[in-house]
Amino acid sequence: MTKLNVNRIVNDGSEKTDTSGVRKITELNVSQTKAMFIYVAQKVIESKPYLTEIDSAIGDGDHGIGMSIGFKKAIENMEQKEISTINDVFKIIGMSMISSMGGASGIIFGTMFVGGVKDLEAKTTLDLKTLTTIFENSLKSIKTRGKADLGDKTMIDSFQPAVEALKNSNELIAGIKEAADRARTGVEKTKAYTAKFGRAKALGERVIGHQDPGATSVWIIFDSMTQWIERNL
Ligand code: ADP
Ligand code: MG
Repeated sequence: MTKLNVNRIVNDGSEKTDTSGVRKITELNVSQTKAMFIYVAQKVIESKPYLTEIDSAIGDGDHGIGMSIGFKKAIENMEQKEISTINDVFKIIGMSMISSMGGASGIIFGTMFVGGVKDLEAKTTLDLKTLTTIFENSLKSIKTRGKADLGDKTMIDSFQPAVEALKNSNELIAGIKEAADRARTGVEKTKAYTAKFGRAKALGERVIGHQDPGATSVWIIFDSMTQWIERNL
């Protein structure tokens, strides 16, 4: 019986070998991108109790529940719907979140995915430039819709530094790892801020010392992307 070479199947995106013979992945194909985001979705769902705990300290405790509902719907739709482009992956995740989560965070996290592919030409590979363009545009969209900026104790505090890290990188995998690191630092910084939005705003100085739930979700998303890459590429 012929043994399936799993690595070959997983590594069917673009590979380059540098002069030292080290394999370099420069882009993911559509099925790899879908697999990576299914993993991301599972990790966010697993983080439900953690996110709930964080939101209970400064909000209404529903952030983990909302994110979990949104990403469950995203997995369901990614598995059922026809996906032929990178744009489809992002659009399906974003639309699933907007339609199932409801509320402000449904729109904000839905926009994190759907907002970046709205005007993007059809892509069948996800390289650093494409990923950067997608998240740069979705960040702009979130800021236009939600009116929050750095220092307002929202998901912008981790998402913007993550996008900056992608922009300053010249390699896909290193860029995603750096984005996760910068998002983590952004989450830490939110502990020092008072909130300008949502229920946390009403708590004034009492929220100091607590990290923002939405910023934490952004970090989990980039950290899970990094984990998937480390395990599968
Ligand atoms: P809700 O505030 O409706 O209970 P969630 O608890 O699910 O929604 O999400 C709260 C998170 O949403 C916050 O931690 C913050 O990161 C993010 N958020 C709230 N308002 C905004 C905004 N205007 N722009 C960006 N992010 C925001
Ligand atoms: Mg909440």
